Parts: sequence; structure tokens; C-alpha cells
Amino acid sequence: MTPRQTADHRSARLSLKRAVVFVTTFCNFRCGFCEFAADRLPRERKIHFPFDRWEGFLREFKALGGREVYLTGGEPLMHPRFWEMVELAQRHGLPVHRVTTNGSMRAQMGAGEFRLAREAVRAMQVSVDSPRAEEHDASRGFTGAMERLTEFIGALRAEGAQVHISNVLTRDLFRRSAELVEWAHGLGVRHVNFQPCNWESNYGDYDAVEDKERFAVPDEEMDSLEIALHEAHRVARHHAVSTNLPLLRRWVRAFFECQGTGEFFHDRLFARFRCYVPHETVYVGSAGEIFPCTLLRHVGTLAEGSLSDLWRDAMQPVRDHLDRGRFFRECQSCYCDFPANVRKNLQRHPLRHAGKVLSLLPYYMGRLRTH
Ligand code: SF4
Ligand code: SF4
Repeated sequence: MTPRQTADHRSARLSLKRAVVFVTTFCNFRCGFCEFAADRLPRERKIHFPFDRWEGFLREFKALGGREVYLTGGEPLMHPRFWEMVELAQRHGLPVHRVTTNGSMRAQMGAGEFRLAREAVRAMQVSVDSPRAEEHDASRGFTGAMERLTEFIGALRAEGAQVHISNVLTRDLFRRSAELVEWAHGLGVRHVNFQPCNWESNYGDYDAVEDKERFAVPDEEMDSLEIALHEAHRVARHHAVSTNLPLLRRWVRAFFECQGTGEFFHDRLFARFRCYVPHETVYVGSAGEIFPCTLLRHVGTLAEGSLSDLWRDAMQPVRDHLDRGRFFRECQSCYCDFPANVRKNLQRHPLRHAGKVLSLLPYYMGRLRTH
């Protein structure tokens, strides 16, 4: 292939769509499985994304074709200018697709913030570990966490904002899945997302929580996990609550069984699986770091180069590696953007995966409804 053909080939596969921005590494909670827990992250690593870089970032992101931003943390609402960041995104015509939050910051919000949550954010995604207050509070290391988030969800719903629940599936609490869906339905929430606890660090530049595998569901509990998720799926269908369970239930056993081994769980699901995350998404750290995905180390910072250069050049070796069908050690425990990755693999080879395409169609149609 000539250099020109190679460049054309690359640009055809490269299409920046979304930015996932870690607007802060501060958090007020102490979740045992999280590298950003208040009592774990050293003071010098607690950083807010510099507000004076935000508008320039949005402009460049949009000029590169970016369409939507995800705002996360840490606890993103602890950024002192968080809602101004949301407002600027709105002004630049960039929808905030998700804000992930622990639901504790309602007291810092007034009418203007609720208006932005309704008009500029597609969904506020509140993390809940268990519908039982004492379990959720213990898991989050924050007394009164459940009371706060319940009030927060009620206020968001009353203001007309869209609310989703996200749940980390852990060894201790996976049995609450069906109860969680029931609880969410009672609060008027229309979507619940389940995500297995990751063994590795959730953030490429940070060491994993010590002994993190204690949160993973062990092999001997795998049948119980599948039963619990089956029941959660049944309850969700009964209440017309959408979930990611149609997809997750197919791969959750493989995910947990492959953790800590050299095996790659994607291989159990797809022949010649490819990861396309760094072809469409840029991850931005609180200090302006640019990551190819949340699990890999940063390739540069916005202080060192433009977003355009970092996106096109600094991230390219990662994409080249993946395009050759290779992976990284971190990929062994990756769940990053799994639904989008699966969809992309199906779209690239629909005939090879015809059975999966048909069986997963209802799931992807459901996702369109929850957006
Ligand atoms: S999981 Fe979320 S709420 Fe818990 S410590 Fe980490 S950033 Fe904070
Ligand atoms: S498969 Fe690897 S490169 Fe792709 S998102 Fe996961 S960790 Fe990142």
C-alpha cells in the first residue's frame, strides 16, 4: 500500500464522535473499588479540569467532527464551574450525552442548574450499588448517600430531567439486581445500566485499588449471577424499564472468568474482534491528558499539543496496534464502551455475525429509545 493509500485507509476508519471528559478527580465518596475514592487518591492528584481550557477544547473537538460529550469524574458536580461547562457545551451545540454522578450534590443546585440538567444533558446517570440504604451507604463509604440520591432523583424528575441508574456488579451485591430495577421503576427511572466491577484500574494512569479482585464475582457464583441477571431482566421487561442486560448477559460470565488470566473475553464472543474505541472516542483527563481509552495510559496532554495533533498522531500507534488485531494487557479486563464496540463489529461483518445481529437488534433499538 502506498503512503497515500495508507493515509486514506486510516482516515476512512477515523471519525471522532465523542469525548469522555474526567472533569475532576475529586470525590466525596469512598467506594472500595474506585481509584478516585476520597481517602485513596493523594491530595496532589486531586485536580479539576482547568475551566479556561474548556471552551478552546470544545471548539477544537467540534471542528474535528465531535458530536457529544460525556462528563464524568471523580464526582463531576464537585467541579466548582461544572454547570458553566455544561452551559458552554450547550452553547457550542454539543449535547452532554451523560453526566455520571453519585447523586450527593443536590444542595449545590438551583433553578438554573436544574434547567441545564433538563435541557443540555440527555441523561443524568446516578450510581447505585444497592436499593437498600444501609448496603448502598456501606458500599459507597458515605452515611446518608442513599437518602441524598433519592432526593436528588426526585428533584431531577420533578424538573423534567432524564435520569438513568448505573450499577456496578460486585460479588456482594449482584443479588440485588432485580430489586434495584423494581426500586428504580418506583422512582420513575426508565433505564438501568449494569456494569461488572473491573479488576484492573479504571483509569490508565492510576494504580488499581489493592486486592481489587475481592469485588469480582468468583467462578463458583457464576450460576447465581446468571440467575440474578435473568430475574432482573424479567422484572425490567415487566415494568418496561430498559437495561443493557440483553447484551450483558451474553458476556458477563466470560468477562469474569477471563479476569486475571491471559485470555481475552472478547475472543469468546467474536471471531476476529476489533476494538474501535480509539477510532471514535477521545478520553480527556482532569489535567488535560489525552487517553486512547479509559484503561490505557495517556499519550499526551493538551498543554503539550493541540487536540488535533494528539488525536491524529499521538493516538495513531494505538489504533495501528488494534487494527492489526492485537491488544494490550489492559484489554483483558476491558468493558469500555462495549455496546458500541459490539455494534461496530456487527456492522463491519453483518453476514459473518448474522445470528447475533438478529438477536441483538431489539437491544440496540431499545438503546435508541433511551437516548
Ligand atoms: S465510584 Fe464514583 S462515587 Fe465512588 S469514589 Fe469513585 S468517583 Fe467517587
Ligand atoms: S479493548 Fe483495549 S484498547 Fe479497546 S477500549 Fe478496551 S482497553 Fe482500550
